[in-house]
Amino acid sequence: VSGVMRIPAGVVTLTAAARIVERGPRYNVDQFRRHSPPMNAPAPDLIPPPAPTRVPVCGKRVTGHFPVRRIYCVGRNFADHAREMGASAPVSKAERGTPVFFLKPADALVTDGVAAYPPGTRDLHHEIELVVALGRDAPSGVLDPAQREALVFGYGIGLDLTRRDLQTAAKAKGLPWDTGKSFDQSAPISVLLPANEVGALTSRTLSLRVNGALRQESRLDQLIWDVPEILNALSKLYALRAGDLISMRTPAGVAALQPGDVCEGRLDDLLRLDCRIAPQR
Ligand code: MN
Repeated sequence: VSGVMRIPAGVVTLTAAARIVERGPRYNVDQFRRHSPPMNAPAPDLIPPPAPTRVPVCGKRVTGHFPVRRIYCVGRNFADHAREMGASAPVSKAERGTPVFFLKPADALVTDGVAAYPPGTRDLHHEIELVVALGRDAPSGVLDPAQREALVFGYGIGLDLTRRDLQTAAKAKGLPWDTGKSFDQSAPISVLLPANEVGALTSRTLSLRVNGALRQESRLDQLIWDVPEILNALSKLYALRAGDLISMRTPAGVAALQPGDVCEGRLDDLLRLDCRIAPQR
């Protein structure tokens, strides 16, 4: 008779599961355990494991790879960019409030210099940012000032690519920013330099050219929250670990990108990020 679905052997139907739950006391965990591999036996991955994301480290004395765990991103951290996005920039440190954070998945990183124009948007924006790489796990609790510097492994520069139309719509409705920010290939990044080769950040200048024309440029002393302050704020919310990257938010001058555009980010002559926007996949 059609309309009667045959259940393949071995599949636990919802009804059967409910029956098992109903019988409660007569079943115990051991009866289920015999259907799973013993705890100590090697169990194979049943799907291919995701490829780990690594960023090259190109120091004078230290070379290798930096395996990435998480990417934390900071919102509204340059006064001029906060203004251009319609937020009021704080006039003094006391009026800064608290920084805005969001995350990108580690596999959003692009290290080969080509990012595809993403689907779902007509307004892809560039945001050039300083990226801080943590080389040690933070101790539990809020970081004290002496510990903060010791966590930093090195620095890079990155593009926080943004589907601005989706982010703006989400902001207007008070919804999360994820679809505007956390998409595939949304985080092109340069190589990393060890912290001792970058030295004091405040006199460094971050810039972005698109097809040769200057779009963004700012000294890092214009950050509303500096690196130790951001690490302190993050430590109140998350357990910071070796492998975490923190993208420090962009200066003014964000604008749209088109397929074929060539981005050239710089931190003085220390770090360079080249990225071409390829046609949509
Ligand atoms: Mn950003």
